[in-house]
Amino acid sequence: MKTIAERLKSASDSIRQLCQTVNLPPDQVALLAVSKTKPIEDIRCAYEAGQRLFGENYVQEGVEKIQALDDLTDIQWHFIGPLQSNKTRAVATHFDWMQSLDRIKIAKRLNDQRPEDKPPLQVLIQINISHDQRKSGLENDTELFALAEQIAALPNLNLRGLMAIPAAGLDDAQQLAVFIRMRRLFDGLRARFPQADTLSMGMSGDMHNAIKAGSTMVRLGTAIFGARSNAAQ
Ligand SMILES: *Cc1c(COP(=O)(O)O)cnc(C)c1O
Repeated sequence: MKTIAERLKSASDSIRQLCQTVNLPPDQVALLAVSKTKPIEDIRCAYEAGQRLFGENYVQEGVEKIQALDDLTDIQWHFIGPLQSNKTRAVATHFDWMQSLDRIKIAKRLNDQRPEDKPPLQVLIQINISHDQRKSGLENDTELFALAEQIAALPNLNLRGLMAIPAAGLDDAQQLAVFIRMRRLFDGLRARFPQADTLSMGMSGDMHNAIKAGSTMVRLGTAIFGARSNAAQ
């Protein structure tokens, strides 16, 4: 079995090669290691191998890990799961990035609850690019621009771009088409909000098409930490 360090190395190599294939600079795409359901020791292993960006889906689990690893001061923690309004304070207090923002109510709470001694929370707006009923996210660009304007007015949030999770079960061509639509939406956003520099799309199974379409951050769980147990998604 491969170690976490070996898997990180091969994931980074693949990302670099994919960048080359589409004529992007090799460091164009950031790697977020998605450590949900995985133990603290796995995160330490990845950290020791040089990984600094980590993503968590569940508030309670994420906060426990952040606190247990607070000696690793240069980790950047990304919240990537659905967020209910009664849990915003924990995210505002402990995380550096929030990738799944899709309503103004949550944005305002995060803004109000962000501690004064921390830099603004870096946020991505989640787009429901496949119009999947079971996924959160905005459905069209009118909604997107309205929310982006409102977020831009909040001093403790910094709008950095977009995130999406395509529906499962798409074939290769459909997947690529969805990612290309996301890239167009992102380019439109960037034209109005130049600080938006991050397009978070691509997971272990589809990062190839995501990078081809212009992703700037892939979120890899299985490819780095191995399969998750069936009990947890
Ligand atoms: C679990 C998860 C990932 C990682 O998925 P893998 O297929 O294991 O790479 C990425 N993004 C989000 C939002 C997730 O919930």
